[in-house]
Amino acid sequence: MPHYCVNCGAELVPREVEGRLLEGCPNDDFVLWRDPKVATAVVVEADGGVVLGRRAIEPALGHWCLPGGFVNDDEGPLEAAVRECLEEIGAEVEVTGLIGVYHIAKREAPSMVGVGYRARVVDGGRLAPGKEMLELQVFALDDLPDLAFPSHRQILSDFVRSQASRAEAEPPPAGAGARRASRPSPARARSTQRRTR
Ligand SMILES: [Zn+2]
Repeated sequence: MPHYCVNCGAELVPREVEGRLLEGCPNDDFVLWRDPKVATAVVVEADGGVVLGRRAIEPALGHWCLPGGFVNDDEGPLEAAVRECLEEIGAEVEVTGLIGVYHIAKREAPSMVGVGYRARVVDGGRLAPGKEMLELQVFALDDLPDLAFPSHRQILSDFVRSQASRAEAEPPPAGAGARRASRPSPARARSTQRRTR
């Protein structure tokens, strides 16, 4: 299928750029780059679990997924993540960390760079499904449904793994059944561990 220049409308011709055979304009410097699209997905922590939505749109209508979506040209990935959460789960979130950055290969479409964040609902925030979601539900980490997209599965499983290693890093309670006035500080927790190992 022929492609055309976005500047002058001329039909593009093969052009070698940095060792790659691409299509370029015969009249100006326009090159049809095959760039990945950037998307975010957010693991939102709430009530001891994570918030998932069941999709009201294709692809994967009726399946569970993380809130998230494409990054617009005029925003950063962090802003996009917060915006998508507001649109899809109706709540303002605070991003609390990066889970990872993922390459999502596609055959029939541009590949994607997926940015997985962890977040929490801002105090007082209420969850309400946006128009792209049939319903929302908070799932416990040991009772997660299958997700619609492999990238979301990967991000959620990386999140669960990081939670597990965090829990492992926490010191055991100071005596089973003993009343704890406060959690030990991270510094104390570390030095306690060092002594006991
Ligand atoms: Zn042109």
